[in-house]
Amino acid sequence: MAIIGFIGLGNMGGPMAANLVKAGHTVTGFDLNPAALEALQAAGGAVAPSASDAVKGAEVVITMLPAGEHVRQVWLHQGGLLDVVKDSKPLLIDCSTIDVESARVVTAAAEEAGMTMLDAPVSGGTVGAANATLTFMVGGDAGAFAKGESILKDMGKNIFHAGGPGAGQAVKICNNMMLAINMIGVAEGFILGDKLGLDRDTLHKICATATSNSFALSNYCPAPGPTPASPANRDYAPGFMTALMLKDVKLSQSAAAATGVSTPMAALAASLYQEVVDAGDAMKDFSVVYRLLESRVKG
Ligand code: NAD
Repeated sequence: MAIIGFIGLGNMGGPMAANLVKAGHTVTGFDLNPAALEALQAAGGAVAPSASDAVKGAEVVITMLPAGEHVRQVWLHQGGLLDVVKDSKPLLIDCSTIDVESARVVTAAAEEAGMTMLDAPVSGGTVGAANATLTFMVGGDAGAFAKGESILKDMGKNIFHAGGPGAGQAVKICNNMMLAINMIGVAEGFILGDKLGLDRDTLHKICATATSNSFALSNYCPAPGPTPASPANRDYAPGFMTALMLKDVKLSQSAAAATGVSTPMAALAASLYQEVVDAGDAMKDFSVVYRLLESRVKG
């Protein structure tokens, strides 16, 4: 069992850290939000008054933060985590979804300081985080992956080595670009189905065994009703916030521009999620795009 410092105990990091405690690791966490600290304590973990305190003496340090700027800030800024752990040299793992460039910059800085770092973003949402069934897509050298894999297995079911530094983030950006587009497609299908007079559960039952089936349709239906556990049935409480999905689709658009790839569907998806955010629903689950499209139905 390992001594683990865990920074970022939000919708994902909170349950992930709790699963590490459950697996028998000694976990000390830090988050800017006091409620997140209380939740880790209630799950049997320890909390620290700062990120630096949380990682002192750790054998493994994990971050689960919103975006690249937070990851750079926490690891690299003066007195940042790389500085704090430069003598103890723990294994470093960032599970946040961030741009490939930030992942490579932080990893390079870690390597310069004689440490190994993995970029290990996840898929599977808050349910996967709570049930320890996440998929991890991991970038970094093979030796570091071999060291980190057993820890990741305590938080997830499928652990993939995607390639060198940044490769985990690259897979994640492609995955979320596809999910962002797919969610809108499912929302359009269910709105059209309603207007055509179909029973929602019947449409769902048939499509879930037909060629339109997908994660968005079968597990996370954006129309209220067919999948009881989905955010649509709790006024779109996240789940996965629209602000974070918009961040990820924008990451895909930056990557597409940098590589000369044409992604017209993702560009349209980005503009729709932007509209959701502008309408004040940034903190709602991204499947709330259904409501935006429904509000446009004429007659
Ligand atoms: P969240 O906003 O719920 O959690 C982020 C946490 O980081 C917050 O509790 C915040 O207080 C904390 N934080 C921010 N800056 C900090 C700092 N300097 N020091 C300490 N704590 C700090 O977000 P989330 O949904 O848990 O997502 C985290 C990451 O996982 C994001 O990159 C997101 O894109 C990715 N992700 C989320 C989901 C999902 O379904 N929610 C699924 C897959 C991946």
